[in-house]
Amino acid sequence: MKLVLASKNRKKLEELCALLQKAEPAWEIVTSDAIGFSREIEETGHNFEENALLKAKAIASLGYFALGDDSGLCVDALNGAPGIYSARYAGEHGNDAKNNQKLLQDLAGVAACDRSATFVCAMACAAPDGAYFTVRGECPGKIAAAPAGNGGFGYDPLFIPNGFSRSFAQLTPEEKNAVSHRKKALDALMKQLLPFVASHT
Ligand code: IMP
Repeated sequence: MKLVLASKNRKKLEELCALLQKAEPAWEIVTSDAIGFSREIEETGHNFEENALLKAKAIASLGYFALGDDSGLCVDALNGAPGIYSARYAGEHGNDAKNNQKLLQDLAGVAACDRSATFVCAMACAAPDGAYFTVRGECPGKIAAAPAGNGGFGYDPLFIPNGFSRSFAQLTPEEKNAVSHRKKALDALMKQLLPFVASHT
C-alpha cells in the first residue's frame, strides 16, 4: 500500500521512513516531491493536529492516502512555547542554531527543576474521499543548560528525555526512535491505519 508523506523536512522524513519500514505490513513510502507536489503548505492551524491535517488533506485531495505530521517542543516555563511555532521560534524558518540560542536565552535563570518540556508530534492520515483521523505522541523531558551532541536535528542538543542523562542529540538514532514523540504517534497511527485504509478504498 502506498502512503505519501506530506513533509519536506529531510531529517524528519528519515526518522519517519526508518520507523515506517519496520511496520507490518511494510508500506510503500513516497514523499510529496516524488509525486510532483512541490507547493508549500502554510501551517495556519491553531494546534499540532490542525497543521498535520492541512498537510495530509492537501495531498489526499490529489487521490492518495497521505500522512501529514506536525511537531514541536512545548516548554512549561514558557507556557507551552515555542509549541506550533518551534520551527520559526527565532524568526527565521528552520534555523536550528538560532532557535536553540533563543530557547536558552528565554530560559536564562530558570532552575533545572523548572525546565520541564515535552516534545509533541501529531500525525494525520487522510484518504482521497476526504476521511481522516489524527493521533498524537508525546515525549517528556527537560531542557539542558547548554547544548550537547551532534546527532538528530532541531532542539535535540538541548532536550534530555526522561529516564536519560544524555540529550536527544547524544542518543543513537535507535535510542531516540525508541522513545520519541514521533515513534509514539506512529505506534498510535499504525493501530488505526489498516482498517482506515480498508474502509476508504
Ligand atoms: P514542523 O516541520 O513544522 O513539524 O516543525 C517541527 C519543528 O519542531 C522542527 O523544526 C524542530 O525545530 C522541532 N522538532 C520537532 N521534532 C523534533 C525532534 O525530534 N527533535 C528536535 N526538534 C524537533
